[in-house]
This record gives sequence, C-alpha cells and structure tokens, in this order.
Amino acid sequence: MKIACMDCNHEVIMGTLGACPACGGILQAHYDDAAINTLIEIQPGRGIDRYRSLMPVQSAIPNLGEGDTPLLKSKRIGTALGLDHLYFKNEGLNPSGAFKDRAGAMVAALAIDNQARGVICASSGNASSAVAAYCAAAGLDCIILMEPGNPVTKLRQTLATGARVIRVEGIFAHGPEALRDMLIDVAQRTNHYLGFIWAPVNPYILEGIKTIAYEIASQLNVVPDAVIAPVGGGDMFTAQWRGWCELHRAGVIDTLPRMIAVQSESAPPLLAAFRNEQSSVETLSYANSKVSGINVAFTGNHALAAVRESNGYVVGVSDDEIFAMQRRIAVEEGIWIEPASAAPVAALHHLKEARQIESDSYIACIMSGAGFKDAKLAADVANTIAQQETASFDAAHISELIGQQLS
Ligand SMILES: [Zn+2]
Repeated sequence: MKIACMDCNHEVIMGTLGACPACGGILQAHYDDAAINTLIEIQPGRGIDRYRSLMPVQSAIPNLGEGDTPLLKSKRIGTALGLDHLYFKNEGLNPSGAFKDRAGAMVAALAIDNQARGVICASSGNASSAVAAYCAAAGLDCIILMEPGNPVTKLRQTLATGARVIRVEGIFAHGPEALRDMLIDVAQRTNHYLGFIWAPVNPYILEGIKTIAYEIASQLNVVPDAVIAPVGGGDMFTAQWRGWCELHRAGVIDTLPRMIAVQSESAPPLLAAFRNEQSSVETLSYANSKVSGINVAFTGNHALAAVRESNGYVVGVSDDEIFAMQRRIAVEEGIWIEPASAAPVAALHHLKEARQIESDSYIACIMSGAGFKDAKLAADVANTIAQQETASFDAAHISELIGQQLS
C-alpha cells in the first residue's frame, strides 16, 4: 500500500496528514493487487473491519456495529416518480445514526496506531457524535471543536459519550487551508490525533467510508446506473467512487455507476464548479442553507474529480424541496432521516427531466443520517400538537376527534 497525491502522484510516507507537499493536491491510498483481490470473496464477519486489508490501519478497528446498513427498495416514492428501481441506503442505522461511524471507527484505530492520547476533530455535528462514540469505545480522549449554533440534538449526543467540546467562533469561516493548518497545530500541541473527517486534512478516513460501495454491490447484485448522494465536504461521495473503482479493479463488477452529487442551491460550491466547468472547486463567500451537514462554503476537489471520472453530474435543490421530501420519505416510506439525507430523493425529478436518469435506471440514494440528528421539523410538529384540543376519557369524544383529523 502507498500514499500518493491524486493530482501529481507524488508519494509520501504513510501517516502524512494535510495536502501533497509537492502540489497541494489531495493524498489518497493505493493498494496492491493482493489487497484488492480480497474483494473477490465476501469476507466473513460483520461491519467494516472485515475489509481491513483495504484500510490503512494496523490496530484493531473498534466495533460498535457500524456498517451493513440496509438497502431498501422504495415502496411508494419510486412508483410516484415513475422510477422502477429506486433504492435507499439507510446510513441512519449506524450506531451513532450517520455514515460518519464508518469514519469514526477508522479514526480511533488510527489514533491508537499513532500512539496519540486521544483525537481532536472539528465538526458541524454528525462527525463529532461518531468520533466521540468510537473514542469512548477505544478508551481514547476526545476533543471536538464546534461551531456555535449547531442543532442541540447533535451536541447532546457528542457530550453524552464523554467528549470535551470547545466552541470556536467562525471555525469554518477562514477557508479550508487555514482550518487545516490550525487543526494540525492544535493536534501537535496536545498530542491528539487529527481525526477531522475531510480528505484534504486527513486522507485516510475515507477508506472506512468506501465500504458503503462494497455493501451496495453485494446487496443489489447489479451495478447501479447512478449513485446519488448529498455532498458537503465531499468525502462520502468520493469514498464511494473509490470503493466502486476498487471493486471494478478486482473484477467483481464490470461496469461502474455514475456518481451524482446533490447540494442545496443555498450552499453550492461543487455545483458552481460543475456548472462553470472550473478546474477546481472555489470557496464560496456564502453558505446559507438551513440544511445542516451540507451547509458548506467549500467542497474538496476530490469530489469534482469523482464526478468527472464517473461521467457523473451535480444537481442543486432548494432547502424547501429538501424539507418537503424529508417529510414525504418519513410519511410514505416509514424512514425518518435528517434533512440532508432527503436531498438525493428531492433531486430525482430534476434528474429525470434532465435525462440524467431513466424510468428503468437502477438508482441508489444515500441517506446519510437519521431523523433524530436534526429534529427541528419534528419538534415544530410536536409543538403544534401540544396546542390541540385534548380528548376526555370517552370513546365517543375520542372517535369524534379522530374523525376530524381524518376528514
Ligand atoms: Zn501533488
């Protein structure tokens, strides 16, 4: 296995953090044929640890039951949209409720490999819950730097597993390079492993996330025509593309899916780069989406590369479309996911109009996290119900109120 730059192929020693010292590009792991060929047989066991020959870690990966999330065939929305083969990969069923657990497990193992006292991470929410949980499982100290004003439910979960939280004013406002340099500095000063879940800062972590692709391949038995995912920093999107490419290299699959990225129109750095045919993603001067997790001013160039290499596409949806689809998925499919997870499904009719998907396409939408992660909408509904008339202990009265609701 070697670590090399995705742009200039410059090789660095294993464990190097940050950007390529030669050109500033993003570093990535490359495996030899023997490691890649382990994909030919489905490895025994559960979760992501069974793929450890394709991960850059020596220590055991702490297991909390991450991975092996269900791939669910749509029960109603697919039919309503005229899509015969619509599937949802429900990453909300990971232990802390988001795909980031696949990364959190890797972070803890990497911290042990590096003999660090603990882990330091900066996060808008889901990553902090995941890293905190896996640090607790591995007996590691955990420090989370967090933007003030994130959903309280996410902060609560992080604190429950014993992480120390330091709220940093404007932590994501200084651009990716400044953030990376600051985090590396703090990590060195405090002997904590830098577990920031973004490949331009820590290129190893997405090796855990790529297992989503391995799982879909074995669950679906055909290669999807399109994998559609919400995109913030771009790791989850890019990691899956790597996973599909590795399966292809091993000969497990003979075609590759198109990777389709979805962003909010209110925070669209990757969308802007794609529409304007830019050679790299530029940091936006704004990020105004109400959808936590994808409210980003910057996306990594690795995601743009994954779009281009896969002959993929980038589509924007409004926050209102995302919130409406979040509710629809809960009510019509029985799956309560966080708003960002609804973005791929909200994009489907745009993609159909643009002829990016067809009625008979096999489509895998990645639902990144569970509904309790960002429950403001549900809390609003609960507050409305708290204002409604209460029934007396009387069958006729209760039935009358039910009748009013049904009419
Ligand atoms: Zn380079």
